[in-house]
Amino acid sequence: MQITLPELALILLVGPSGAGKSTFARNHFLPTEIISSDQCRAMICDDENDQSVTSDAFEILHLIAEKRLKAGRFTVVDATNVQPEARKSLLKLARQYYSPTIAIVLDMPLRLCLERNIRRRDRTLPEEAIRNHYGLLQGSVQGLAKEGFRQIHHFRKPDELANLGVLRKPNRTNQKSETGPFDLVGDVHGCFEELCLLLQSLGYRTSLAGQNFETYHPDGRKLVFLGDLVDRGPKTPHVLRLVMDAVKSGDAFCLSGNHDAKLLKALQGQKVSYTHGLAESIRQLEDMSKEFREEVAEFLRTRPSHYVFDGGALVAVHAGLREEMHGRDSGKVRVFCLYGETTGETDEFGLPVRYPWATDYRGRAMVIYGHTPVMVPQWINNTLCIDTGCVFGGKLTALRYPEKELVSVSALTEYYKPNRPFKLSEQT
Ligand code: GDP
Ligand code: MG
Repeated sequence: MQITLPELALILLVGPSGAGKSTFARNHFLPTEIISSDQCRAMICDDENDQSVTSDAFEILHLIAEKRLKAGRFTVVDATNVQPEARKSLLKLARQYYSPTIAIVLDMPLRLCLERNIRRRDRTLPEEAIRNHYGLLQGSVQGLAKEGFRQIHHFRKPDELANLGVLRKPNRTNQKSETGPFDLVGDVHGCFEELCLLLQSLGYRTSLAGQNFETYHPDGRKLVFLGDLVDRGPKTPHVLRLVMDAVKSGDAFCLSGNHDAKLLKALQGQKVSYTHGLAESIRQLEDMSKEFREEVAEFLRTRPSHYVFDGGALVAVHAGLREEMHGRDSGKVRVFCLYGETTGETDEFGLPVRYPWATDYRGRAMVIYGHTPVMVPQWINNTLCIDTGCVFGGKLTALRYPEKELVSVSALTEYYKPNRPFKLSEQT
């Protein structure tokens, strides 16, 4: 059997003393990834068993866990974690750093834990303590699913652990080894003609091969689409076809925008309002084959919330991203990536008032994003919005990286009337 853990997560080993937690940790994780409550006790008073320092030991354990999560490191807590409150504080810590928490429950038979305890050379605990751990686990194991774990792996027999493979799944947002050069493209919104013109200006070669497009750059540059490929514009299926083909051939990256996410919901049969240009996409996709729509749904379903490129120097995202969220994967991060930060208020046009996260940004990574149309892209603290409102009759814009050169093509027409006068929607 195999389990697959995310590249960045907080792992809680859960089980009575003697269940095999420390052995499991040693077998599957790096020594530096493991924080053991026993070792924290020993660090304080030279004795792993001295229960009188338990509360100080957990203070240290939490502090190290916090520093590792802040640094974006995979972290394993080797403690009994049989009490819901103990788990709760660690789940909270991981949430604070936008990391998922995973429980690996070693729910071994009580008899086995007791036998092992007696045979142990390093230490023995009073039998009562182990019975107590066991009782606490049995009393709370049913409720684990509601505590907020991303995954729960529950093992009941030693055999299940004997041949267990523990794999690590790379975080899709982590593309640090991709160093470019890139051409990042703002919100296309179905503007296929302008996309072709832009690709031409950027030096890409695009040709039709049967039903598919072949797009590549002779210098090996790669495209990065910042989301919102769809809605409002005249040729959403064509845009999707071209981008899906370029992603498949490795010539492009594409992340999710809020419109793409909403179209996915509609394609999956969820109830969504056909507003803000979704109706156009649905109508255009009805002319396409069922296979195409399925391919689109699968493509949209697998789009990451953002990308971290070039050793962490470049972040690509739809609506923007605060530094502490770069490379992280949580519900909150996804929401921020798709919609940015809103104040909860709406303006006189009924649109959400956006919190200007970029003005507070002090991060070293360059953040390139779209989402809110601007007349002219303007650098704000190493961040740049390159949505220049093509579908509203503005421009379609790309940023060359690392050159930091903007390349734009003008919209052939105004395809959609903006809710808010275009000039007013410019961020400052
Ligand atoms: P913990 O208290 O949950 O951390 O348990 P440990 O990993 O320290 O294991 C307790 C004892 O059980 C140690 O003596 C281990 O060598 C032994 N042990 C742990 N896992 C296994 C296992 O899978 N098979 C066998 N035979 N012994 C194990
Ligand atoms: Mg142990």
